[in-house]
Amino acid sequence: MPPRRPSRIGAHAPTAGGLSRGALRYAGQVGAEVVQVFVSNPRGWAPSTGDARDDHAFREGCAAGKIPVFVHAPYLVNLGSPTAATRAKSVVALRHALGRGAEIGARGVVVHAGSAVAGARREEALGQLRELLLPVLDAVPDGGPRLLVEPTAGGGQALAARVEDLAEYFDVLEQHPRLGVCLDTCHAYAAGHDLAEPGGVRAVLSALVKAVGRGRLGLVHANDSRDPLGSTRDRHAALGQGDIGLDPFGELFVHPATRDVPLVVETPGGADGHRRDIALLRALRDG
Ligand SMILES: [Zn+2]
Ligand SMILES: [Zn+2]
Repeated sequence: MPPRRPSRIGAHAPTAGGLSRGALRYAGQVGAEVVQVFVSNPRGWAPSTGDARDDHAFREGCAAGKIPVFVHAPYLVNLGSPTAATRAKSVVALRHALGRGAEIGARGVVVHAGSAVAGARREEALGQLRELLLPVLDAVPDGGPRLLVEPTAGGGQALAARVEDLAEYFDVLEQHPRLGVCLDTCHAYAAGHDLAEPGGVRAVLSALVKAVGRGRLGLVHANDSRDPLGSTRDRHAALGQGDIGLDPFGELFVHPATRDVPLVVETPGGADGHRRDIALLRALRDG
């Protein structure tokens, strides 16, 4: 095996001002070696078209800085929804995010795993997932982004919260080659994985590999949690200022599953918070 290259560390970057003058500049300000962006309103359905010149400048800038790019799909996307209109809009939004991701050279598009919303319809929701998502995955062109499923904090009939849930999720999607995983540490803690314990981060990464196999983890969201273990609440805290604490994040840099997998912080506190959290992770990585 070649020597391990250090995982890149970055942040979710705001796109106010555009991708190149907003997000790329932000990456420079906070010291990000990888960026995640929204390509439309994260809390709405309206797709936004890209600006070819801005896209080009962004791609060039990211290539020059060797900055991998990830897109986060809107939060409303839910292919497991009992509401037909929500499912239809979700497909459109996912196709849009993957298409825009391809245009800006993104390595992955992150989407929340979704939920059945109401009880006793998990099988139905997984059937919808299969029927709606397989054609979307098949349509991603070669060299386009992977779709990275992000397990949620749990509660509300989540389709995947604990990483073990990903096994069934991947099964219904036939282990599609375009499919990957984004692991959010805050969500995992909320779903009951005790990351605060020594060895807890290692354990969740090993369980993830057991559920979906090697090479599927494409991105880590490194966030501390404002709520206790198993809360099913998704409220991010700055690193070391939540219930997980800082030390467990060091385990992210030694497990084989995170080899060459970038880390992105989605923590509060704006640019100052991100600069600080990136510096903390870098100290854990390089120290
Ligand atoms: Zn997310
Ligand atoms: Zn996340």
